[in-house]
Amino acid sequence: MNNTSYIHVGWLVDGTGRPVQKKVLLKIVDGRFASIEPFSQALGVDPSAVIDLSHCTLVPPLVDSHVHLFMSAASDSRIRKNQLVAGYEELRSVIAQHLHYLFTHGVLTVRDGGDRGGFALKYRSEQGSHPEMVIKTAGRAWHSEGRYGGLIGRYPGTRGIVKAYEEDSEQSDCLKLVMSGLNSLKQYGKETAPQFTAEEVANLVKAAARKGQKVMVHANGQVPVRIAVDAGCHSIEHGFFMGRENLQRMADKGTSWVPTVYTMKAYAENLNPAQEGADLQVIEKNVHHQLKQLQTARELGVEVVLGTDAGSLGVLHGESMVEEMKLFRKAGFSIAEIIRCASLNGSKLLGLEGDGTLTVGSRATFLVSRGAPSQLPRKLSYLEDIYTDGSPSEFYRKNPFKYT
Ligand SMILES: [Zn+2]
Repeated sequence: MNNTSYIHVGWLVDGTGRPVQKKVLLKIVDGRFASIEPFSQALGVDPSAVIDLSHCTLVPPLVDSHVHLFMSAASDSRIRKNQLVAGYEELRSVIAQHLHYLFTHGVLTVRDGGDRGGFALKYRSEQGSHPEMVIKTAGRAWHSEGRYGGLIGRYPGTRGIVKAYEEDSEQSDCLKLVMSGLNSLKQYGKETAPQFTAEEVANLVKAAARKGQKVMVHANGQVPVRIAVDAGCHSIEHGFFMGRENLQRMADKGTSWVPTVYTMKAYAENLNPAQEGADLQVIEKNVHHQLKQLQTARELGVEVVLGTDAGSLGVLHGESMVEEMKLFRKAGFSIAEIIRCASLNGSKLLGLEGDGTLTVGSRATFLVSRGAPSQLPRKLSYLEDIYTDGSPSEFYRKNPFKYT
């Protein structure tokens, strides 16, 4: 027997990037959208059978395509240092808490960008406490010996990166490669040398294809990004100071970009520059430059994907989605375009089932935000409800947002 319901929604942001639709009647049959029509055409539908969300905006479930579940956003240096040595037993509850924050902000899918102990992988294998979420993870990232990346991964040793990866049996969902260092907070636009050669990266992409994995690449600066894009890597993470030429290449090749702009703004907000030997003006110029790049990416048609790097200093799991979206607004993206970056584009990059949009035939899993779309992205921190497969999520009702 069919299980049919109707919902009248004030505004629908469907995740495809098309303009917001107003006053819509959704027909849901067996947990999927059977029709999406203007409400004015709701002829013959018994009004008492219609769920009234006419004061609300519906948004697809969000995808945060770059988090580090084991790391908290703490700026306390003792806590950050402990993250370098803490074991899984200690981090398990930290990961669970972060997933809870993400879920209550409507982030139903995350991609973990790596940790030094394969903690996210281990957590997922024991999962059970987050039945309504999808966790994708890169496992342990790869960096070259003596270079940045120890916190989120390992180095290949004498075997070389390709052989080491081929022999690795970790059950990760993608390969995370660390191609450059971090951005300088003292010297504007300073580029670091690539960690791997063009030949190594090209062979690695082929090896990853044989394992059915995509390659996500931490890369800042022109040369590290160019090598990754030319080799056919699937997403550039961060991409600060990559330059217009790389953005054009990415638009041509369909390479995704996860710009993590807020990571830099969070430094400005949370770092004590004197203590850390950083220059606040340089940090602010870095933010500005990345916003310019984001604007260019939009103009060139680069596939931009929203990811926050939550767990980086000051970048909170959950809330940072809203902060990143605000910066996308600054770079000229409409709210419909931003939501697309955080749903459809993320779903494609992560290879999720379904395309993440609220369209006919797709799962009726969505977020309910009180008020008009002008309340977005702010209201994503105060969701009215989450529906899964056509019904209010029991899990969300039992686990409303709270800090512990
Ligand atoms: Zn990261």
